[in-house]
Amino acid sequence: MNTTTIQQISDSWKRTSENVASIAVKARRSPDDITIVAVSKQKPAEYIRAGIDAGIRHFGENKIQEAIEKLPQFKNDKIIRHCIGHVQSNKVRFLPELFDLIQTLDAMKTAHKIDSIFRENNAVAEVLVQVNISYDSAKYGLDPAIASDFIGELLTLSNIKCRGFMTIGPNTDSRDEIRKAFKKMFALSENIYQQFRGKLSTPELSMGMSNDYDIAIQEGATFLRMGQAIFGERG
Ligand SMILES: *Cc1c(COP(=O)(O)O)cnc(C)c1O
Repeated sequence: MNTTTIQQISDSWKRTSENVASIAVKARRSPDDITIVAVSKQKPAEYIRAGIDAGIRHFGENKIQEAIEKLPQFKNDKIIRHCIGHVQSNKVRFLPELFDLIQTLDAMKTAHKIDSIFRENNAVAEVLVQVNISYDSAKYGLDPAIASDFIGELLTLSNIKCRGFMTIGPNTDSRDEIRKAFKKMFALSENIYQQFRGKLSTPELSMGMSNDYDIAIQEGATFLRMGQAIFGERG
């Protein structure tokens, strides 16, 4: 990996962090309440190393197999590893070793599997529930209408700690539509938090990617998942 690429990652990270902070302040939010998850998918492990050296602490991967190949070498680095891709139940056994936060839980069958695998590992899985807020047939995620029941059931599983919600903005050029979806997600999250008062901690909200993170900040995101803005375009 050449020094130009390393420098580019460092520069992009600095620029992205500054943008996020300035958009947050304009939206009357504290930049400290917003965490950028650097999505390193489809990029070699050297990019993660360069990111760590540049000061990045949160990384996201979307494929279990890729994570198995890349993440173990960072075992001794103080990074937080986010699973941002769909998890099939036959891959759940890899999760305890690989990830610190699973952002993509959207099925009770998988929840039970996660609960039992983490119990075997004497661990508690931290998860976000992925919601398909814009009812996009091409996307994973829970039907918003059943999110509340889902959380109720999730709370009965002792080796899962639900920390909030994740959603992917609609795939559209319309910034209004994206904003509408993020507003809906924020409202749903607030509703569920009120409904389960005392049982859920203040919900994290993972929404916003390289092309819509500004809207996500304005609408209450606490995690942004950003790949291309930091690591450059993907092949
Ligand atoms: C790839 C991916 C991202 C990052 O997308 P960018 O456009 O590179 O910022 C965010 N979230 C999920 C779920 C992804 O798969």
